[in-house]
Amino acid sequence: MKKPFLTLAQAREIVKTYPTPFHIYDERGIRENARALHAAFAWNPGFKEYFAVKATPTPGILKLLREEGCGVDCSSLTELLMSERCGFSGSEIMFSSNETPAEEFLLAAKLGATINLDDLTHVDFLHKTLGRAPETVCCRFNPGGVFTLGESKEGFQVMDKPGDAKYGMTRPQLAQAFARLRELGTKRFGIHAFLASNTISNEYYPALARLLFETAAQVAQETGCHIAFINLSGGVGVPYRPDQSANDIAVIGEGVRRAYEDILVPAGMGNVAIFTELGRFMLAPFGHLLTTAVHEKHIYKEYVGVDACAANLMRPAIYGAYHHITVLGKEDVPCDHVYDVVGSLCENSDKFAIDRALPEIRPGDLLVIHDTGAHGFSMGYNYNGKLRSAELLLRGDGSVKLMRRAETPDDYFATLVW
Ligand SMILES: *Cc1c(COP(=O)(O)O)cnc(C)c1O
Repeated sequence: MKKPFLTLAQAREIVKTYPTPFHIYDERGIRENARALHAAFAWNPGFKEYFAVKATPTPGILKLLREEGCGVDCSSLTELLMSERCGFSGSEIMFSSNETPAEEFLLAAKLGATINLDDLTHVDFLHKTLGRAPETVCCRFNPGGVFTLGESKEGFQVMDKPGDAKYGMTRPQLAQAFARLRELGTKRFGIHAFLASNTISNEYYPALARLLFETAAQVAQETGCHIAFINLSGGVGVPYRPDQSANDIAVIGEGVRRAYEDILVPAGMGNVAIFTELGRFMLAPFGHLLTTAVHEKHIYKEYVGVDACAANLMRPAIYGAYHHITVLGKEDVPCDHVYDVVGSLCENSDKFAIDRALPEIRPGDLLVIHDTGAHGFSMGYNYNGKLRSAELLLRGDGSVKLMRRAETPDDYFATLVW
């Protein structure tokens, strides 16, 4: 059973000040989860989580995570600028981008960020752009082929195709990049890989860690480079569906620790730091999209029209992603109606739920769309002249803080030349 983190009474109070639709985030949940992650990796003294800014690029969230000891993983100029304004600097910033423009490397270097290179050709591009090689550089590895984990106990098969992905360097290129960087003056090296997305399995990070640890030990031997950290990147998932069980971050941390003891310690690399760049795991379950049912329509199917649309949350429209829906105040009412819950875009893909069993919904009902804290607001857009919504923080004490106001038509018109 998925439970919203706010009640109908709380929601009714909030909508008096902030009309729906809006995204709201649960401060207590975010902090507790960040602490659980840090506890799971406490065995590694250099551990650091670099929150993937693209998941939730909101200063109120970034500052909160900084208080919990997290850094940021940026992938663009504006994400770097936002992170700088939130107080992140130097080794608190990872810059993992691809097809990177020169000006972005320049800003990343100016901020002292750790640059994660996506390709062998970027080594000399970076050197030419900066006029030097940074002291610390990370390189992104793509092992190619197909990445699979055995069937997990939840029956969820992890399979991804790194061989089809545009990211990272091949194994021979990785060693070449390290050797070239060392020639240019780099002293500390890291290895990064991102092989599977939204994994619902405690085995993903440990399997990835084994692969990266073995690679690191080999590359260190081949090139003599000092490998200072391994970056496990993102990919630890969340259970969007109510019948899926959540990953156990303590079990995941322990699995990575075992791989570390098995591979890195015997290789004389027992001081390597572990980094993560989690986005979804850090935020998704702690965000709700709150929306009001506006219309009901009875044609060949039963429709409930809501005031949010795919411009507020595009995952269902573009990936067919499941997002659970709770009708506030009807948590215990039987789900004896079947609806398509739809937004108002002139696109038939604008459906938050298709053939979903729900309690009877009446216009005016408040609906929680679950697990929208990551890759939710951030993927929003302005199609059909839809305006971006507000983002609110539900604080530990029950009060509500505005983190981003809703757009107005003037914001939408601001870049136009009439
Ligand atoms: C998207 C991304 C992440 C975060 O991924 P999640 O699946 O949200 O954890 C981390 N690192 C890089 C380089 C990314 O592109």
